Amino acid sequence: MRQLFVAGNWKMHGDKASIKTLVTGLNAQADSVGNVSVAVCPPAVYLDYTKNCLVASNIAVGGQNIAEEPVSGAFTGETSAAMLKDLDCEYVILGHSERRAIYGETDAEIARKVKTALGMGLTPILCVGETLEERESGQLETVISTQLNAVIDEVGIAAFANVVIAYEPVWAIGTGKTASSGQAQEVHAFIRGQLAAKDSAVAEKVIIQYGGSVKPGNAAELFSQPDIDGGLIGGASLNADDFIAICRAAG
Ligand code: PEP
Repeated sequence: MRQLFVAGNWKMHGDKASIKTLVTGLNAQADSVGNVSVAVCPPAVYLDYTKNCLVASNIAVGGQNIAEEPVSGAFTGETSAAMLKDLDCEYVILGHSERRAIYGETDAEIARKVKTALGMGLTPILCVGETLEERESGQLETVISTQLNAVIDEVGIAAFANVVIAYEPVWAIGTGKTASSGQAQEVHAFIRGQLAAKDSAVAEKVIIQYGGSVKPGNAAELFSQPDIDGGLIGGASLNADDFIAICRAAG
């Protein structure tokens, strides 16, 4: 049995006051989530503040991006994997569709960042997913396997024992349109099958989260699918009651 895992992607949201309120709410209810791994991924400048506000020992912290260069250097504006480790982060979101679409991150760059994260002992949450146009033109499987294979080629299949995958259909992110549990399960099974073709033991272990407009009302149905092992939550992770309700649905 895989341990279900729910992570909150706060994106570029929050300030000290709102983070204090959010984390106070998480602290108050963290005991109620049950047997599920939980993490929150604040903006980099608030990682330390979030960590300091968090009392709940069952909520880990992660970053939303890292530089390819692991430790330090002349890379203005960047955050390194070593810096995240220094702040006691356990995870880092990589390859989010916003990074791919807005900042032009390529499969190759994302693969190198996954390698950097693993080398520094961070668990990457590797996001993959198709646009609506790609889905409707029958390219779903090609898109997903290209995104996955770029990383497998860089780090090797065995390293996926320490990688979390988040399937996030781009058309469902922040749109209120959720993939149906059947649509999501189908892609999760495809992803696990792609991994299994290379290493069945690793494929069985890998946590595959679903992301895309997960809310308290649809989380339980999504998480009940055999290959959906939790969620990567955007908008709903900014409200403590909603985020905890989603975690409980996985617990
Ligand atoms: C995300 O950005 O990773 C995400 C899943 O966002 P939302 O839950 O708001 O769709």
